[in-house]
Amino acid sequence: MTRIGVLALQGDFFEHIKILRSLDVDALEIRLPAQLDSIDGLIIPGGESTTIVQLIDIYKFREKLIKTITEGLPTWGTCAGLIVLAKKLMDHRPDPLKLMDITVQRNAFGRQVDSFESNIDITGVEGPPFNCIFIRAPIVTQVGKNTEILAKVNNNRAVAVKEKNILGTSFHPELTKDTRVHELFLNMTQ
Ligand code: GLN
Repeated sequence: MTRIGVLALQGDFFEHIKILRSLDVDALEIRLPAQLDSIDGLIIPGGESTTIVQLIDIYKFREKLIKTITEGLPTWGTCAGLIVLAKKLMDHRPDPLKLMDITVQRNAFGRQVDSFESNIDITGVEGPPFNCIFIRAPIVTQVGKNTEILAKVNNNRAVAVKEKNILGTSFHPELTKDTRVHELFLNMTQ
């Protein structure tokens, strides 16, 4: 059985756990760095990226996360999780893990449209467009030459990206009943 860990320091980790369990995956809340050795894939959930990064450093996760993910652990960041994985932010906070060759702009859709939904085609997701939920969402403003853009929203803004073993989405598939993006990630762990 595939074992997926969800970083459970802050944010909506339990929504991911519920979807994973509905797909018959052994889903585990990750609260200690050593637990990263026992999983086939990792999800860094949405929440508040400054808080998540602060807790990553307080609980001494940074070095272990960088090592394990660089060595190939399939990893998916949703929203704040995408910010945490980025190489560069347009903000001066937080200090991200710099694992994915992307530049990210936090809260990119402005205050008045902090949250919205949009049906978007995602490369690798079969069937009808995916209902993407954006909550104070970031966008990817620049990608490196090895980063693939899987989805874009209005004005060509990248909202789903993939680079080797890392997937990033600026929206929240865990807040829908549609399991297709989780399945896309599970395929990366096979
Ligand atoms: N705006 C949040 C941040 O910058 C991310 C929001 C989310 O994860 N839904 O961390």
